[in-house]
Amino acid sequence: MSTEEKTLRQTIIDLCLWMNESGLNQGTSGNISARYQDVMLITPSAIPYAKMTPDMIATLNLKGKYGEWEGPLKPSTEWRFHLDIMKARPEVGAIVHTHATYCTVLAIARKSIPACHYMMAAFGGMDVRCSDYATYGTAELSAHALKALENRTACLLANHGMIATGANLEKAMWAAVELETIAKQYYHSLLIGGPVLLNEAQIADTLKGFSSYGIQDPDAAMKKGKPAVKKP
Ligand code: 13P
Ligand code: ZN
Repeated sequence: MSTEEKTLRQTIIDLCLWMNESGLNQGTSGNISARYQDVMLITPSAIPYAKMTPDMIATLNLKGKYGEWEGPLKPSTEWRFHLDIMKARPEVGAIVHTHATYCTVLAIARKSIPACHYMMAAFGGMDVRCSDYATYGTAELSAHALKALENRTACLLANHGMIATGANLEKAMWAAVELETIAKQYYHSLLIGGPVLLNEAQIADTLKGFSSYGIQDPDAAMKKGKPAVKKP
């Protein structure tokens, strides 16, 4: 196994531990995947994150026979939507699925999140949709998730939780945190009379700025040497 793959496997575990410590997720709910060359690395099913080691991470082929997997333990029961999203969306390098409380509360009420905050633009449009319901782990749930994710980077899963995607693990987790934050804010705004929603022009305006907005890589930036003075 290459050092790069080992690091990626360890990062998946570190993020699983972090998402539970931070309160974003609970217990063995949730799962994380990352694209590595022609395979998808994914957390094994129902293993406490504290017990997870890099060699326990399962691999599924993105190009070979559908659903064929390798690893000492069964992959996450949600391998289908992870795999189907990665196959359908080449820009997605990592996926975070959690049962984050506020996302799940809204998903239980079957509420999509409307453009109640400018950060909605981070998810690609005017809303983060709530999918239709299907049993966890099924092809039907995967189809519903893909539909809800059309032109979006995240979605809610009815009576279940949420999915956030990103170009890499760090960005997918960033999206997961932002989504739970906006879900919490939307939920609370409903309690005080409901939100005033932003219009398409306002979200489009934010989207323009978002083409150059996102997590910065401090390591890469600092390696380049003395920071250049740039005009805003
Ligand atoms: P796994 O432990 O199989 O990944 O399942 C957790 C989950 O969130 C199912 O939707
Ligand atoms: Zn789940």
